[in-house]
Formats: sequence, structure tokens, C-alpha cells
Amino acid sequence: MSGEQSTALVWFRRDLRLHDNPTLAAAATADHLLPVYCFDPREFGPRPYGGPDSFEYEKTGPHRARFLRESVADLRESLRERDSALVVRHGRPEELLPDIADAAGASAVYCQTLPVPEERAVEASVESALADRGVELRTRWTHTLHHRDDLPTPVAEIADTFTPFKDRLEATSRVREPISTPELPPAPTPDSSVSSGSSDSSDWGAKEVPDADTLGVSAVEAPTAEDDRAALDFRGGESAGLARLDAYVWERDRLREYRETRNGLLGPDYSSKFSAWLNLGCLSPRRVHAEVERYEAERVENDSTYWLVFELRWRDFFQFQVTKHGAQLFRPEGIREREVEWSVDSGAFERWAAGQTGIPFVDAAMRELAATGYQSNRARQNAASFLANDLRIDWRRGAARFETLLVDYDPASNYGNWAYVAGVGNDARDRSFDVLWQAHRYDPDAEYVRTWCPELADVPVEKVHQPWTMTAAEEAEYGVELGADYPEPMVDPEIYEGPED
Ligand SMILES: Cc1cc2nc3c(=O)[nH]c(=O)nc-3n(C[C@H](O)[C@H](O)[C@H](O)COP(=O)(O)OP(=O)(O)OC[C@H]3O[C@@H](n4cnc5c(N)ncnc54)[C@H](O)[C@@H]3O)c2cc1C
Repeated sequence: MSGEQSTALVWFRRDLRLHDNPTLAAAATADHLLPVYCFDPREFGPRPYGGPDSFEYEKTGPHRARFLRESVADLRESLRERDSALVVRHGRPEELLPDIADAAGASAVYCQTLPVPEERAVEASVESALADRGVELRTRWTHTLHHRDDLPTPVAEIADTFTPFKDRLEATSRVREPISTPELPPAPTPDSSVSSGSSDSSDWGAKEVPDADTLGVSAVEAPTAEDDRAALDFRGGESAGLARLDAYVWERDRLREYRETRNGLLGPDYSSKFSAWLNLGCLSPRRVHAEVERYEAERVENDSTYWLVFELRWRDFFQFQVTKHGAQLFRPEGIREREVEWSVDSGAFERWAAGQTGIPFVDAAMRELAATGYQSNRARQNAASFLANDLRIDWRRGAARFETLLVDYDPASNYGNWAYVAGVGNDARDRSFDVLWQAHRYDPDAEYVRTWCPELADVPVEKVHQPWTMTAAEEAEYGVELGADYPEPMVDPEIYEGPED
């Protein structure tokens, strides 16, 4: 259709940004460029978690579905501002992309390659469907801080524990500089004789971003309104991600104390809250790194500035672990192939999920997750440890629950951290938490528990983390009847040592 001129498609996946996007930059060397995003139906609705002890769960809940829709809308707007367009479709990419490539007269499709087996399978199907039409799929590795090619060893040989992995990385691998946003070539003129699935072939970007109903996102758990207790108002998209980076690092100057505050539980600034934007690629980890380096040069270089990058290396660690171990990371026995008799007690699981365990610190965490889609790292560790180590329930059920609800869900980070806490992951040590000790240590004034368990609001601080120690007279005095207003603990609290005297 365009004579000697070259035409490329860029298929956006979890790289919903224009800044530091090597896939986009490579695609933009063509004479014509058509950006595409596909809402893949396999990412939504109920589905079975495979294997003999299969259970059903919802893949994407309301929080992340909203965040994703906002991110795609923001990308479309940014592309429009650059006289480009985003073709938005609802369907399987391997079915849609070959037709769109035909209609555009494209000879190549560029995309981000991802490490998780399911995502790799989609990529393989797309590659073969495109090859049938003589179109080439060209991929780029862009999800991590360190490029795969810059690891000290081939991925198959990386260490399975974090410290040696990180030490070698720090000693030998440099983080590449972010790249600039390219000039975007114009969109091709559609070939109307070929079906592209577009209702209006003269305007590639005409279709709206599908709503939650169309995507099949269950409304059951959708919060009715914004919860003003939420740690942050997580708005999807590159614009909001870059604004958060600027606010956290520069405007609010919080990076300076990150190491001291990162175990916090309430409010926007105890940690960066970058995760949701990083995981959909609205924010590039290399951009965050570059901003930390600039901060170090212009304001202060200290343990906190080091520690934020240290945490980004944890993120990389799990991305490379899933690259190395593939589906084994998602099995009950994990990469350590540790046989554990996991319980499948659905009643107990539902109590945990509903924040009704009778252990206030755990309940606060699970209620926050359901209401807002976010939890601090400290809350995640305790909620996960309670399910996997104290209830001994199949850790993958807990991980799947997080998968539904987390606004910042990432398969490698989520299942990797869960396996780690459950003792089947990357560390041989017992990772079980004394959740009562943790509650006293990290929520000493019980502000977190009182925020999310309002029925305990009047219980004094000495009792609120262990309401089962209240006498009947105290229950009456503080207006909470155990077993009626707030549950009895579902585990024997004697298993915890609790606070130090
Ligand atoms: C059971 C469990 C499940 C988790 N599931 C996820 C998940 O699905 N997605 C996710 O991004 N993180 C997950 N984490 C890791 C961590 O809790 C979150 O990354 C962090 O709380 C996000 O908040 P933040 O951006 O303010 O983090 P910050 O403390 O500001 O850290 C900066 C960044 O470093 C990365 N990071 C920090 N800690 C970890 C870690 N332990 N593992 C991997 N990356 C890390 C994140 O990208 C984060 O945005 C999980 C942790 C646990 C214990």
C-alpha cells in the first residue's frame, strides 16, 4: 500500500509508556507506525488455577482493571498529542494482530518480550500467526532495571538466592541510560479491502477503551466509592506515574528517608508506591534509577537512596528467577521442590480473605487489600505468612487472591514473594512471621489496626492487637463483644511469642 515505504506495528504490552521505551524507538524507525493495544480476554473473568488441586479465581479484579483502562487511555492521549493514534481492540492478540498488520501493510510487529510462561506462550502464538502472513515479530527486553544481556552470567546460571545475585550484579553490571522518546512516524492509511476489526477504518484510534462490564470484571468486590483510608489514589498511566516519581523524589523529598520509613503502614509517603506503574510499564525502572542518581548528585546520597535501587534489584531478581525456572515457580512445591501437606480448607481461606481471622493485624491487611488494591510490603508479608505458615493453606490460593486484587500485581513479584514467605522459594530459611510480635513492632500505636478494624477503635493499645485477652467487663467497656462484633482468633494465639516485655 505504501510503495517502497516501510510500515511497522508496535504492540504495547506491559510497557504502556513513551519514555524510555526501546520497543517503540525501534518501531519508530519505519516510515509509518501503527501502535496497538489488545485487551486479551484471557486476562479477565474466572479461571481455573491448573494442577490436581485446581481451584477457581478471578484473574483481574476491579482495582487493576481500572488502573489498566486508565493507563491505556493515557497512552492513547499521549500518542494523539504526537499526531499518532492507538488502535485499541478487545480480543486475543494472535487473532487480531495479523489482520491489523495486513490492513496497515506492515512487514514487522515490534513488542516487549516478557518472562512469564503464559506471556511467552501468547508471544509465541502471535509470532506464528504473523509468520503465516509473512510478517516478522521483533522483540525487545524492557521490563527490568538491568538488561538481560548485562547479567554477569547467562540467566540459566544466576544464583537462586538474592544476596549473591545482587552482589554480582552490583559488582559487574551497569544500568543502561534511559533512552529518549522518538519522533513518531505517521500512521499508515488503512487498506479498506482488508478486515482490521475497525468499525471506522479511516480512524485507527476510533474505538473506545472497553469498560469493566465488557471486559467481564466482576463487580462483586468493586468498592462503591474511593476509600479515603487508601494509601494513595493510584491513577493509571504514564502521566500519573511520572507525576508520582516527581512528587515522591523531588516535591515531597521523601527519598531522603526511604530506608527509615519503608516499613510504614499508613499514608502515601512511607514508601514510593511506584510498583503499579512499574508493573504495567507506565514507569521505566531505568528512569527511576536515573532520577535517584540525579537526586544523589543534587541533594543527598545516603542509605535511603541506595536502598530504593536495592529494592528495584529485588524486583529484577524475581523477573530473572521466573525467566530461569518458568512454570516451576507457580507449583505448590516451588523451585525448592519442597513437599508440604498444604490444606485446602475453603472456610478458613475465606475467613482470611475477608479479614475475619480474629488476628487484627492480619485482618487490617486483608481489608485494606480488598478496599484499595494495595498493601504495604510489611502487611503483605504478614498476611501471606499467616495463611501459608500458620493456617498451612496452599500458598498459591493466597497468591491467586492477591493476583485478583492487587493494583500492582506482577506475576514474578507476587508468586516469587509468596513462595519465599511460604518456604518453597528462594531462601532455605524459615520465613514464618510471628504476626503478634510484628503487630506490636510495626504498629505500636495500633493506628493501622484501628483504621481498618473500626470495631476495635475504642480498645486500648495494650489490648487491641490481642483482643482475646480482654475480660468480659473490658469488652463491655470498649463496646466490642468477641465472637459477635469481632471474631475469636482462628488459630491458638499461644503459637505467637508476641511483644518483648
Ligand atoms: C506476599 C507478597 C506479594 C507481593 N506481590 C507483589 C506484586 O504482585 N507486585 C509487586 O510489585 N510487588 C509485590 N510484592 C513486593 C512489595 O511488597 C511491593 O513491591 C511493594 O510493597 C510496593 O510498594 P512500593 O512501590 O511503595 O515499594 P517500595 O518500598 O517503594 O519499593 C520500590 C520498588 O521496589 C520493588 N520492590 C520492593 N520490594 C520488592 C519485593 N519484595 N519484591 C519485588 N519487588 C520489590 C517494587 O517495584 C517497588 O515499587 C509482594 C510482596 C509480598 C510479601
